[in-house]
Amino acid sequence: MHLRAGRPPAMLREVMLRRSRPSLCRVMMYTLLFLTPLSWLPPLPPAAAQTELAVTVDDLPTHGEAPPGMTRLEVAERLIRSLQRRGIHGLYGFMNGRQVRADPKHLEILEAWAAAGFRLANHTYSHLNLDSVNAERFIEDIEANESLLTMLARGPAAKLFRYPYLREGNTLEKRDTVRRWLAAHNYRVAPVTVYFEDWAWNDPYARCRSRDDRPAIAWLKESFLQAAADRLAWSDVAARRIFGRPIRHILLLHIGAFDAVILDELLEAYAAAGVRVISLEDALRDPAYAEDPKLASGEELTFLQQLGRARRLRLPPGSAPIPRHVLETVCR
Ligand SMILES: [Zn+2]
Repeated sequence: MHLRAGRPPAMLREVMLRRSRPSLCRVMMYTLLFLTPLSWLPPLPPAAAQTELAVTVDDLPTHGEAPPGMTRLEVAERLIRSLQRRGIHGLYGFMNGRQVRADPKHLEILEAWAAAGFRLANHTYSHLNLDSVNAERFIEDIEANESLLTMLARGPAAKLFRYPYLREGNTLEKRDTVRRWLAAHNYRVAPVTVYFEDWAWNDPYARCRSRDDRPAIAWLKESFLQAAADRLAWSDVAARRIFGRPIRHILLLHIGAFDAVILDELLEAYAAAGVRVISLEDALRDPAYAEDPKLASGEELTFLQQLGRARRLRLPPGSAPIPRHVLETVCR
């Protein structure tokens, strides 16, 4: 049976919502529905065989719920080990300094990240949504993050910036004010072209771990890898439609427990599909990123979605939606 990541079968929804069923029946259904082998994942199209992809990680030092028996530092260390095993170095983590003020122990996570040879960059001090505040407040928040970034940097602090929630401003004036400030302060925006809402799996994973619900955890893995494959394939097709050629992609992940647990498998699946991991600097050398979509959408949009809309292009229909309903109800 092929479990579609985007549309959980009615039987699965029923299993999630009606907890009063006999547990043996529930376990059998989970087993049937969840334990499909990885080989059923659709291969990426041949066009994606040469896909180049920079991996980036947001919300350092922590994101989402931590499962029982796994500290925040262990989440970071596991993520770091998976990256190192794949020979990925110098990767950028986008940081919110306010987390350290809230819990000074989180500083050790950032120190471990930097000690492993990874870089830290600016994601605003308090993870602000630019659509909800004015440009001045947003800029102050970027500046507030700088002292900690400077303190932790090995050498000059990286001048890279990632917008929280991928929200770049709901008016053109606000958007341009922030962009002008970033450029004047030598910041480069780190756009995102591959985004599959990876963060949405972290809290369900913590819940399922505390119940030790292994069939549900198996489904979390399957659906995560499915979403990762689908969205990369979509981004590859969309980029070719926009630019008439493949581009170097930039993937957004978060520093959550499930991201850390599944990163090995994700990188392995991407490698098997012919994806070559490159540095963010290399990705940003692609001339595609010189283009400014000049779009004030008021929505969470990737760089490709912004460009598609700004140029009024008909992009391919979106890949299967993220199974948000199941993720929100599983293991409750
Ligand atoms: Zn973020």
